[in-house]
Amino acid sequence: MRLALLGAPGSGKGTQAKLVERSFGWPQISTGDIFRKEISNGTEIGKEAARLMDQGMLVPDEVVNAIVRKRLSAEDVKIGFVLDGYPRTVPQAEALDASGLGPELVVQLSIDKDELIARIGGRLTCSLCGSMFHATAHPPREAGSCDRCGGSLKRREDDGPETVLRRLEVYERQTAPLVGYYDQKGVLVELRTGTAGPEEVFQELASLLKSRAPGWTWQKKKA
Ligand code: AMP
Repeated sequence: MRLALLGAPGSGKGTQAKLVERSFGWPQISTGDIFRKEISNGTEIGKEAARLMDQGMLVPDEVVNAIVRKRLSAEDVKIGFVLDGYPRTVPQAEALDASGLGPELVVQLSIDKDELIARIGGRLTCSLCGSMFHATAHPPREAGSCDRCGGSLKRREDDGPETVLRRLEVYERQTAPLVGYYDQKGVLVELRTGTAGPEEVFQELASLLKSRAPGWTWQKKKA
Protein backbone atom coordinates (compact mmCIF):
# COMPACT_ATOMS: atom_id res chain seq x y z
CA MET A 1 0.00 0.00 0.00
CA ARG A 2 1.44 3.33 -1.06
CA LEU A 3 -0.26 5.82 1.23
CA ALA A 4 0.31 9.56 1.56
CA LEU A 5 -1.01 11.79 4.33
CA LEU A 6 -1.76 15.33 3.30
CA GLY A 7 -2.57 18.19 5.66
CA ALA A 8 -1.45 21.49 7.11
CA PRO A 9 1.26 21.65 9.78
CA GLY A 10 -0.33 20.44 13.02
CA SER A 11 -3.07 18.42 11.32
CA GLY A 12 -1.71 15.19 12.81
CA LYS A 13 0.19 13.67 9.86
CA GLY A 14 3.19 12.62 11.93
CA THR A 15 1.12 11.13 14.74
CA GLN A 16 -1.14 9.21 12.36
CA ALA A 17 1.77 8.03 10.19
CA LYS A 18 3.43 6.55 13.30
CA LEU A 19 0.21 4.79 14.28
CA VAL A 20 -0.18 3.41 10.75
CA GLU A 21 3.39 2.13 10.81
CA ARG A 22 2.84 0.49 14.19
CA SER A 23 -0.42 -1.23 13.20
CA PHE A 24 0.04 -1.96 9.52
CA GLY A 25 3.82 -2.32 9.26
CA TRP A 26 4.23 0.15 6.39
CA PRO A 27 7.27 2.33 7.19
CA GLN A 28 6.65 6.01 7.85
CA ILE A 29 8.65 8.25 5.55
CA SER A 30 8.77 11.72 7.05
CA THR A 31 10.82 14.20 5.05
CA GLY A 32 10.72 16.60 8.03
CA ASP A 33 12.27 13.89 10.26
CA ILE A 34 14.90 13.17 7.58
CA PHE A 35 15.87 16.86 7.53
CA ARG A 36 15.93 17.10 11.34
CA LYS A 37 18.32 14.13 11.36
CA GLU A 38 20.53 15.77 8.72
CA ILE A 39 20.57 18.91 10.88
CA SER A 40 21.60 17.05 14.02
CA ASN A 41 24.31 15.24 12.03
CA GLY A 42 25.61 18.62 10.79
CA THR A 43 25.58 17.65 7.09
CA GLU A 44 25.56 20.12 4.17
CA ILE A 45 21.93 19.22 3.38
CA GLY A 46 21.14 19.76 7.06
CA LYS A 47 22.70 23.23 7.01
CA GLU A 48 20.67 24.30 3.98
CA ALA A 49 17.48 22.74 5.38
CA ALA A 50 17.93 24.42 8.79
CA ARG A 51 18.13 27.87 7.23
CA LEU A 52 14.88 27.32 5.30
CA MET A 53 13.03 25.49 8.06
CA ASP A 54 13.77 28.27 10.54
CA GLN A 55 11.98 30.65 8.20
CA GLY A 56 9.06 28.26 7.65
CA MET A 57 10.07 27.86 3.99
CA LEU A 58 10.25 24.67 1.94
CA VAL A 59 13.46 22.91 0.99
CA PRO A 60 13.92 22.96 -2.85
CA ASP A 61 12.07 20.25 -4.76
CA GLU A 62 15.25 18.74 -6.31
CA VAL A 63 16.80 18.21 -2.88
CA VAL A 64 13.67 16.60 -1.39
CA ASN A 65 12.96 14.50 -4.48
CA ALA A 66 16.48 13.05 -4.48
CA ILE A 67 16.23 12.13 -0.79
CA VAL A 68 12.84 10.47 -1.22
CA ARG A 69 13.92 8.62 -4.39
CA LYS A 70 16.81 7.10 -2.44
CA ARG A 71 14.61 6.19 0.54
CA LEU A 72 12.02 4.55 -1.73
CA SER A 73 14.64 2.31 -3.31
CA ALA A 74 15.23 0.51 0.01
CA GLU A 75 14.02 -3.04 0.59
CA ASP A 76 11.81 -2.32 3.63
CA VAL A 77 9.37 -0.16 1.67
CA LYS A 78 8.56 -2.87 -0.89
CA ILE A 79 5.47 -3.91 1.15
CA GLY A 80 4.26 -0.32 1.19
CA PHE A 81 4.91 2.97 2.96
CA VAL A 82 3.21 5.95 4.47
CA LEU A 83 4.43 9.33 3.30
CA ASP A 84 4.27 12.08 5.89
CA GLY A 85 5.03 15.60 4.65
CA TYR A 86 5.82 14.55 1.08
CA PRO A 87 4.85 15.48 -1.56
CA ARG A 88 4.37 19.10 -0.57
CA THR A 89 4.31 20.75 -4.00
CA VAL A 90 2.85 19.81 -7.38
CA PRO A 91 6.34 19.29 -8.92
CA GLN A 92 7.15 16.86 -6.06
CA ALA A 93 3.92 14.93 -6.75
CA GLU A 94 4.78 14.83 -10.46
CA ALA A 95 8.27 13.53 -9.71
CA LEU A 96 6.82 10.81 -7.49
CA ASP A 97 4.33 9.79 -10.18
CA ALA A 98 7.11 9.74 -12.77
CA SER A 99 9.04 7.27 -10.58
CA GLY A 100 6.07 4.88 -10.76
CA LEU A 101 5.54 5.08 -6.98
CA GLY A 102 2.72 7.62 -6.81
CA PRO A 103 0.31 7.04 -3.90
CA GLU A 104 -2.61 4.65 -4.33
CA LEU A 105 -4.43 6.50 -1.57
CA VAL A 106 -4.03 10.05 -0.28
CA VAL A 107 -5.75 10.88 3.00
CA GLN A 108 -6.25 14.56 3.59
CA LEU A 109 -6.41 15.36 7.31
CA SER A 110 -8.48 18.51 7.49
CA ILE A 111 -8.93 20.69 10.52
CA ASP A 112 -9.79 24.34 11.36
CA LYS A 113 -7.00 26.89 11.42
CA ASP A 114 -7.68 27.92 15.07
CA GLU A 115 -7.41 24.30 16.17
CA LEU A 116 -4.14 23.95 14.23
CA ILE A 117 -2.58 26.90 15.97
CA ALA A 118 -3.67 25.60 19.39
CA ARG A 119 -2.25 22.17 18.62
CA ILE A 120 1.10 23.39 17.37
CA GLY A 121 1.41 25.75 20.34
CA GLY A 122 1.52 22.83 22.81
CA ARG A 123 3.25 20.24 20.66
CA LEU A 124 6.09 18.26 22.25
CA THR A 125 8.23 15.62 20.52
CA CYS A 126 10.47 12.99 22.06
CA SER A 127 14.07 13.64 21.11
CA LEU A 128 14.81 9.89 21.14
CA CYS A 129 11.87 7.99 19.60
CA GLY A 130 9.88 10.82 17.97
CA SER A 131 6.64 10.09 19.90
CA MET A 132 4.40 13.11 20.06
CA PHE A 133 2.58 14.69 22.99
CA HIS A 134 0.66 17.85 23.69
CA ALA A 135 1.01 20.02 26.78
CA THR A 136 -2.76 20.00 27.49
CA ALA A 137 -4.53 17.66 25.03
CA HIS A 138 -2.17 14.69 25.41
CA PRO A 139 0.27 15.38 28.24
CA PRO A 140 3.02 12.88 29.11
CA ARG A 141 2.60 10.99 32.41
CA GLU A 142 5.73 12.68 33.73
CA ALA A 143 6.40 16.28 32.65
CA GLY A 144 9.22 16.57 30.12
CA SER A 145 9.76 12.86 29.55
CA CYS A 146 8.42 10.43 26.98
CA ASP A 147 5.89 7.76 28.10
CA ARG A 148 7.28 5.24 25.62
CA CYS A 149 11.04 5.49 26.10
CA GLY A 150 11.75 8.10 28.79
CA GLY A 151 13.53 10.41 26.30
CA SER A 152 13.34 14.15 26.86
CA LEU A 153 10.47 16.04 25.25
CA LYS A 154 11.26 19.11 23.17
CA ARG A 155 9.37 21.77 21.34
CA ARG A 156 10.26 21.91 17.63
CA GLU A 157 12.44 24.87 16.63
CA ASP A 158 9.99 25.81 13.87
CA ASP A 159 6.88 25.68 16.11
CA GLY A 160 7.25 29.30 17.32
CA PRO A 161 4.25 31.58 16.53
CA GLU A 162 5.83 33.57 13.65
CA THR A 163 7.26 30.54 11.87
CA VAL A 164 3.98 28.69 12.25
CA LEU A 165 2.06 31.48 10.50
CA ARG A 166 4.58 31.40 7.66
CA ARG A 167 4.30 27.61 7.42
CA LEU A 168 0.52 27.86 7.20
CA GLU A 169 0.82 30.45 4.40
CA VAL A 170 3.30 28.23 2.56
CA TYR A 171 0.91 25.30 2.99
CA GLU A 172 -1.99 27.24 1.44
CA ARG A 173 0.10 28.48 -1.46
CA GLN A 174 2.28 25.49 -2.31
CA THR A 175 0.74 22.36 -0.79
CA ALA A 176 -3.05 22.88 -0.84
CA PRO A 177 -3.10 22.61 -4.69
CA LEU A 178 -2.27 18.91 -4.19
CA VAL A 179 -5.85 18.37 -2.98
CA GLY A 180 -7.10 19.09 -6.51
CA TYR A 181 -4.19 17.20 -8.06
CA TYR A 182 -4.98 13.95 -6.24
CA ASP A 183 -8.74 14.42 -6.36
CA GLN A 184 -8.52 14.48 -10.15
CA LYS A 185 -6.64 11.21 -10.05
CA GLY A 186 -9.43 9.70 -7.93
CA VAL A 187 -7.16 8.72 -5.01
CA LEU A 188 -8.09 11.42 -2.48
CA VAL A 189 -10.16 10.87 0.67
CA GLU A 190 -10.79 13.66 3.15
CA LEU A 191 -10.83 12.87 6.87
CA ARG A 192 -12.28 15.72 8.91
CA THR A 193 -10.63 15.43 12.28
CA GLY A 194 -12.26 18.34 14.14
CA THR A 195 -11.30 18.17 17.80
CA ALA A 196 -11.02 14.36 17.89
CA GLY A 197 -7.97 12.96 19.67
CA PRO A 198 -5.25 10.94 17.91
CA GLU A 199 -6.69 7.50 18.85
CA GLU A 200 -10.14 8.42 17.64
CA VAL A 201 -8.80 9.75 14.34
CA PHE A 202 -6.71 6.62 13.94
CA GLN A 203 -9.75 4.37 14.38
CA GLU A 204 -11.38 6.10 11.42
CA LEU A 205 -8.20 6.03 9.39
CA ALA A 206 -7.61 2.33 10.12
CA SER A 207 -11.13 1.34 9.08
CA LEU A 208 -10.74 3.41 5.93
CA LEU A 209 -7.46 1.64 5.16
CA LYS A 210 -8.91 -1.81 5.80
CA SER A 211 -11.92 -1.11 3.60
CA ARG A 212 -9.76 0.36 0.84
CA ALA A 213 -7.00 -2.19 1.09
CA PRO A 214 -8.51 -5.60 1.91
CA GLY A 215 -6.04 -7.43 -0.32
CA TRP A 216 -2.96 -5.42 0.57
CA THR A 217 -0.28 -6.91 2.76
CA TRP A 218 -0.32 -5.60 6.26
CA GLN A 219 1.20 -6.96 9.38
CA LYS A 220 1.25 -5.86 12.95
CA LYS A 221 4.66 -4.63 14.01
CA LYS A 222 6.01 -6.22 17.16
CA ALA A 223 6.04 -3.77 20.08
P1 AMP B 1 7.44 18.72 8.81
O1 AMP B 1 8.12 18.00 9.91
O2 AMP B 1 6.82 17.80 7.79
O3 AMP B 1 6.46 19.77 9.30
O4 AMP B 1 8.59 19.52 8.01
C1 AMP B 1 9.38 20.51 8.64
C2 AMP B 1 10.05 21.35 7.59
O5 AMP B 1 10.92 20.55 6.78
C3 AMP B 1 9.13 22.05 6.61
O6 AMP B 1 8.60 23.26 7.13
C4 AMP B 1 10.09 22.28 5.44
O7 AMP B 1 10.97 23.35 5.71
C5 AMP B 1 10.91 21.01 5.43
N1 AMP B 1 10.25 19.96 4.60
C6 AMP B 1 9.72 18.78 5.03
N2 AMP B 1 9.20 18.10 4.01
C7 AMP B 1 9.38 18.86 2.90
C8 AMP B 1 9.03 18.70 1.54
N3 AMP B 1 8.36 17.62 1.10
N4 AMP B 1 9.36 19.69 0.69
C9 AMP B 1 10.03 20.78 1.10
N5 AMP B 1 10.38 21.01 2.36
C10 AMP B 1 10.05 20.06 3.28
